[in-house]
Amino acid sequence: MNTDVNPINNQKNKFNFDVRGVKKNHLLPINFLIGLCATLPVTLGLPVEALQVEVNPKNPRLGDTVSVVINLDNPDNINNPSVSFGEKTYPVFEIAPNKYRAFIPTTPLEKPGARKIRVSGDGQVKELPLAVATRKFPVQRITLRPGKSADGATQYELNRAAAFKAIQTPQKYWNGKFLRPNNGRISTIYGVRRYYNGKFANGYFHRGLDYAGAAGSRVVAPAAGKVALVGTVAQGFRVHGNTVGIDHGQGVVSIFLHLSRINVKEGDFVKAGQLIGTVGSTGASTGPHLHWGLYVNGQSIDPMTWKSKTFE
Ligand SMILES: [Zn+2]
Repeated sequence: MNTDVNPINNQKNKFNFDVRGVKKNHLLPINFLIGLCATLPVTLGLPVEALQVEVNPKNPRLGDTVSVVINLDNPDNINNPSVSFGEKTYPVFEIAPNKYRAFIPTTPLEKPGARKIRVSGDGQVKELPLAVATRKFPVQRITLRPGKSADGATQYELNRAAAFKAIQTPQKYWNGKFLRPNNGRISTIYGVRRYYNGKFANGYFHRGLDYAGAAGSRVVAPAAGKVALVGTVAQGFRVHGNTVGIDHGQGVVSIFLHLSRINVKEGDFVKAGQLIGTVGSTGASTGPHLHWGLYVNGQSIDPMTWKSKTFE
C-alpha cells in the first residue's frame, strides 16, 4: 500500500508544475525541478545494485530463523552493515570477504504480519518487506494443585541462564546442518502453549525440543562450539537440573537440561556429535528426557529448521 513512494512525489511535482507554470517569473524554479526529476532516478539507480540483500526463508512463519545475507560491492568498505527488523537491530557478522549475515529470530510470542527489514551499508539503505506467517502451536492443559507453582527456579540459575543466552561471540563454530542430540523420539515439539488451571499462560511456550531418550542414553553436541555453561542441581539449578550450554558462535547457543551426567566442563571446545552428557530427570522434570533449546540472538527459535537446512 505505502511501499511505493515515488508516484506520490511525481504527482506532487506535476502539480507544482501546472500551478506554477501559469506564472512566467517562476520559470527558473520549474526548469530546476524538471532537471531534478530527470537526474534523480539515475543517481539512485546505481548504488542500489551495490548493496545486494538476500532474505531466507522468503515466507517465514513464527519460530523460524530468518537469515539476511548482504553482499557489498565496495572492497574498501570499513563498517559492517546494519540490519533492523521492526524496532530491533540485530548483530551482523562478516562470513566471507564483503559478505555479511544477520539472523532475525521469530517466536510464538510475537504478532504475525508484515514488517520491514532495513539494511544499511556502504552509505546506502535498503528496505525489504517481510511477512511472518502465523503458525498453530499445540496446546497443553496443566492442572496444578493449590499452592503448587510451576516456577521454583533460583535467582542463581535464572541469572546464569540469562547471561548464557546473551552471549555474542564473533567467531562462527558451527558448520552445516545440526545433528540430533539424542536418539530418542521427539516427545514435545517447539512452541507448545499452555493453560494452567484453565488460564492461558501468555508468556509461556515450549522453548525447544524434548527427546524421550532412555535414562543414561547419550547426549551429543548437535554442532561444534564452546562449552559456556555447566550448571548442577547442587549449585542451585533447581528447575533446569544438570545443564550444559554450548556457544556455537555469532549469537547462536544450545542449552541441554535435566541431564543425569555431565561429560564436559566450561571452556571445552566440542565437535558435532561429541558426547556432552547423558539423559536424566534432574530439575523440574516428570521423567527421563532431554530438553534441547536453541537460541538465536537471545530468542528461542525452532531447532527443527537448523537440522534440515544449513545456516551459513
Ligand atoms: Zn522441554
